[in-house]
Amino acid sequence: MSGKIQYSNFALRQVAKEMKNLKRTAEVVIIGGGIMGVSTAYYLAKRGCGEVVILEKDLIAQASTGLSVGGIRQQFSNPANIRLSQESIRVYECFMEEFGVDINFRKKGYLFLAQKESTWKEFLSGVKVQRSYSVSVEVYSPEDIKHMWPFLNISDLKGGTFGPEDGYADPYLAAMGFANSARRLGVRIEENTEVTGINIRGSKIQGVETTEGPISAPVVVNVAGAWGAKVARMAGFELPVKPFRRQVFMTRAFDAIPKPVPMVVDMDVSFYFRGEEPGILMGMSDQNEPSSFNTHVDWDFLEKVIEAAVHRAPIIEKAKILRGWGGLYAITPDDNPIIGAMPNAEGFFCAVGFSGHGFQQGPVVGRLLSELILDRQTRFDLKPFAYDRFRKIKQKGEKRVV
Ligand SMILES: Cc1cc2nc3c(=O)[nH]c(=O)nc-3n(C[C@H](O)[C@H](O)[C@H](O)COP(=O)(O)OP(=O)(O)OC[C@H]3O[C@@H](n4cnc5c(N)ncnc54)[C@H](O)[C@@H]3O)c2cc1C
Repeated sequence: MSGKIQYSNFALRQVAKEMKNLKRTAEVVIIGGGIMGVSTAYYLAKRGCGEVVILEKDLIAQASTGLSVGGIRQQFSNPANIRLSQESIRVYECFMEEFGVDINFRKKGYLFLAQKESTWKEFLSGVKVQRSYSVSVEVYSPEDIKHMWPFLNISDLKGGTFGPEDGYADPYLAAMGFANSARRLGVRIEENTEVTGINIRGSKIQGVETTEGPISAPVVVNVAGAWGAKVARMAGFELPVKPFRRQVFMTRAFDAIPKPVPMVVDMDVSFYFRGEEPGILMGMSDQNEPSSFNTHVDWDFLEKVIEAAVHRAPIIEKAKILRGWGGLYAITPDDNPIIGAMPNAEGFFCAVGFSGHGFQQGPVVGRLLSELILDRQTRFDLKPFAYDRFRKIKQKGEKRVV
């Protein structure tokens, strides 16, 4: 009996080995199964693109996408980011109709707070830009803020801006909605499959090497998030995209704050919190932490987060921490992503470096990539996100990054 089992195990291994060596092909290989990868696959398949394969080294939506706090806002300083978010919001608003999934999109608003005069000036000039794109945004004095949210300490504030249309949704559900719809349209999703090399002949993409064998394809898309620079290097490109840990902490059920709690962003200390039923969710950037792939929770850092929380909303002192987690931002020098076709490598596309606002831009970026791949052009001006912008005259990046 045991010999028989051993034999069949051996036979299975042989089949697996042969499968690995089989020459596999695809029209488009997508590297990374986060929100960017699944949305790109969905829009390609919806347009009738031939075989589309997503290769994910771990599991779908478990990296930055699944670890994000799901914020969706239009309050950006850079017009290109405002437009990206506006187009994505339209998809998230109608997600149920298109994908049959309730992603819990709650428009509880985003309240940005300024302590420094320079930050306040930046907010006011941002409001002008935002309103020129029809963004609904209010300017509040510290007294207005106290009136609306009595639990906030306003003693050191210059003022705040509030976007009532902003809010948050469940990023995991959104990514799985895209992934399952893509699957239904014929997209192949291969999990636990790491891309280890990109093959180019002359200036044309030929395919990829993976831990499960090679796949030949004329189009390869790098949407590998925090690993975007590593993947780009496989094709000979140096992208200025670096991983940085960002930590989030959740409290136990906490009723003391009157609902609804908007996303409150204390800009000058990079601290934010929002309601996450039945508790409060909060996070903060450690501006002194060097780039790394570390995602462990640093419980000593929690002290600093609580200090910032209790300063801004003293009532939070009564809340009890339930859990914490760490994820990665993929940051570029100007806090804007790199999106587009790569020069001198026909068939190679990148969308990486979303610097903390990639979940909300996922739907539109996927659609734009599908247009670039299938039509070689898109109606959206992608110049602000061009790969070569870092070598040219300094462009205005994104100032509203937490
Ligand atoms: C704590 C935190 C809070 C955030 N909050 C917000 C927010 O409120 N709003 C917002 O818009 N954004 C937020 N973000 C940012 C957002 O999560 C990211 O910008 C977005 O998820 C990026 O999606 P992605 O698909 O590019 O990357 P990912 O979701 O990281 O997906 C990339 C995938 O590529 C895979 N991969 C990498 N290398 C390889 C390889 N060689 N072969 C195969 N697969 C590979 C990875 O395993 C990963 O699954 C937050 C991020 C964090 C960490």
